[in-house]
Amino acid sequence: MAAAATTSASTAFSSTTDCCNQGAKRVFRITALQVASTRRPSAFKSVRTINTNACTTDSRCSFSGFTKMWSYLSHSAGSAAATITASAKIIDGKSVAKEIRDEIAIEISRMKESIGVVPGLAVILVGDRKDSATYVRNKKKSCESVGIKSYEVHLAEDSSEQEVLKYISGFNDDPSVHGILVQLPLPSHMNEQNVLNAVCIEKDVDGFNPLNIGRLAMRGREPLFVPCTPKGCIELLRRYGVAIKGKRAVVIGRSNIVGMPAALLLQREDATVTIVHSRTKNPEEITREADIVISAVGQPNMVRGSWIKPGSVVIDVGINPVEDAKSPRGYRLVGDVCYEEASQIASAITPVPGGVGPMTIAMLILNTLVAAKRANNFK
Ligand code: NAP
Repeated sequence: MAAAATTSASTAFSSTTDCCNQGAKRVFRITALQVASTRRPSAFKSVRTINTNACTTDSRCSFSGFTKMWSYLSHSAGSAAATITASAKIIDGKSVAKEIRDEIAIEISRMKESIGVVPGLAVILVGDRKDSATYVRNKKKSCESVGIKSYEVHLAEDSSEQEVLKYISGFNDDPSVHGILVQLPLPSHMNEQNVLNAVCIEKDVDGFNPLNIGRLAMRGREPLFVPCTPKGCIELLRRYGVAIKGKRAVVIGRSNIVGMPAALLLQREDATVTIVHSRTKNPEEITREADIVISAVGQPNMVRGSWIKPGSVVIDVGINPVEDAKSPRGYRLVGDVCYEEASQIASAITPVPGGVGPMTIAMLILNTLVAAKRANNFK
């Protein structure tokens, strides 16, 4: 099972709006071995035993073990012991997402009343994955809750790529559809890049088109859409009044859908950004320098309290199912960051669930509204 903990999370998400691959039951069992496998700088070798023992098999981090470790770090680093007892502000993504949905609903009513246009989002689902079906259902529900019209196409697993392309082409030409989302993953016989590239850039509300990502990376260029999850992270920082300009930020993870665009966005906000990935030699040391940490790794509780700079702000994108015999589902969701530890050190932190997850879908419907406004030149 420890091997499972090192599995890439790339298959865990069907699109930016998804939370976890429940259908595939990618459930981690947290073991001391897995915790020990996270890299630590040699300077903190003496902490290793305590740190390793601090996570029990149900992934709850032991405060006593952690406090001892943090005392050691505080002592050796000369930090204030008071940071041990501090408790971070919770960055409540669920309530911010609701606030944003309410704002979107008002804008949609205004547009409908002024020009008679209702934004439309088309979702194409191929195959019978239960998790994908759940995500599509949730998107539909969220769209309906704000007044977006949703269009859904559900194709059989053995459909051809041509059939999917035909639907995309139809939606590209349909003026009542302002955003198109292809639910990922597609069946293995389809070329994902071909399919995603077929979505016209004006309707690419997932923001995955290389032209959008390229513009995001270039100074003086504006992408038409920014990928929903990283956009949601920045929006959380913004709404909680977290200053980004001039701050040191570390993004853990460099995936196309989260880590890489999150780093680009932080850079656009004038942060000094470092990306940590699976080949980074000293992730703990680097992360500890950050005023802002965004973690998108897919490894439960990998980022321990000792990685966090006192007073920093932590955005945990990771959504990882871990075994939990007490839960009726047999698992529960945890982030990449050991919340119990990090919340004692950071000044603000997102919970999992209820942090970044709800923001992702809020950003999808926001992108759809933006697409509809742009298509109709409505300010
Ligand atoms: P991904 O495509 O698997 O990318 C994971 C990234 O983490 C890779 O860049 C990888 O580095 C890096 N990584 C893996 N192990 C590492 C380690 N031990 N130390 C440092 N970096 C490591 O995953 P993803 O799609 O970005 O998703 C990441 C997490 O976010 C998952 O838990 C996913 O479920 C969650 N997620 C949440 C939302 C949401 O709405 N809240 C949306 C999307 C994803 P390499 O590049 O070197 O392989």
